[in-house]
Amino acid sequence: MDHLSIRQNILGHVRRVVVKLGSSVVTTENGLDRKMIKNLADDIHATRNTGKEFIIVSSGAIAAGVRRLGLKEGARTIPQKQAAASVGQSRLMTAYDEAFGRYGIRVGQLLLTRDDLTHRQRYLNARNTLTTLLSWGVVPIINENDTVVVDEIKLGDNDNLSALVAVMASADLLITLTDIEGLMDCDPRVNSDACLIPVVENITTELRDLAGGTSSGVGRGGMASKLEAASKAQLSGVPMIITRGKVENVIARALAGDPCGTLILPAKEKMSARKSWIRYNLRPEGALSVDDGAAHVLLHGGKSLLPIGIVEVEGSFEDGAAVDVTDINGRKIAVGLVNYSSDEMKKIAGRQTAEIDWVLGYRRYDEAIHADNLVVLQD
Ligand code: GLU
Repeated sequence: MDHLSIRQNILGHVRRVVVKLGSSVVTTENGLDRKMIKNLADDIHATRNTGKEFIIVSSGAIAAGVRRLGLKEGARTIPQKQAAASVGQSRLMTAYDEAFGRYGIRVGQLLLTRDDLTHRQRYLNARNTLTTLLSWGVVPIINENDTVVVDEIKLGDNDNLSALVAVMASADLLITLTDIEGLMDCDPRVNSDACLIPVVENITTELRDLAGGTSSGVGRGGMASKLEAASKAQLSGVPMIITRGKVENVIARALAGDPCGTLILPAKEKMSARKSWIRYNLRPEGALSVDDGAAHVLLHGGKSLLPIGIVEVEGSFEDGAAVDVTDINGRKIAVGLVNYSSDEMKKIAGRQTAEIDWVLGYRRYDEAIHADNLVVLQD
């Protein structure tokens, strides 16, 4: 199939769309780019008439706050960034509110942190809020809650956030608007013959290496973080388009299947939303190292991990925690939710299932990690 037919095929089924705007798209040197935000509202308004739903993930709070406060040196320390975001975020929302208000469309603000996406209940609450807003015809505008996050608890960048939001909202497409055409086959700053890659089927190591050095200078994400986001979206079954944001009717054109930007295809076998949450939203609190037999069964059989295959337990964790599963060479092969705490796991490691009762005096589960709670890393 040629590239255009692949696009048409994917985009023909799209209803719910997450649009991510980087700081370089929503701001200029003079602050918020209100004209761009208005154009986006025009574009979305025109496209919404075809029954599509939109969720926006917008950066720009810190950049807008820095301009508003007249901070000549920018915001350098974390408290300065947090404070600038608190000034900029309300400006950002006002700009969206005014732009969409011209069409009588309401917007709603969701400020999320990593913890909101890690705790299952908070994650589900955020998802319910999103779907309620969409059912009311409101356009949710999401940003990371910069005022309360510091490095350790940060999601990292809005590329990452947008991919997690797309999965949370069961979106059919993620469109990332940035300041370059899309993924190029070589670095355009070094090679003037650089060509746009129209469709990506697999996110290869070469592609990651290629993206490694590129960055737009404003905002936190560069091409590398866009590819990270693309990989999360891809494996969770959400197609993604990376394209230049400051282009007229870019959303309508992208959705019509026009050849703009790079389309990253979803994986043929998609991970369930729950497995995607386990893999991408949770932070492993320890690791289980498994023998060759168990590693083989996990990688090829889609089975549960039994205590007998475990050779070492690292870290301190409660039952229900997320842990990495590694082979004996330390290669990470899976992530999963444990049925036993680290203390219990150390006692039952290497034991037959039937032995759990007499080692612990009880047996809550046969498996160390049940197959339903285990995500095997194939990439
Ligand atoms: N949340 C940040 C802001 O709104 C931007 C993060 C990013 O650029 O990825 O300023």
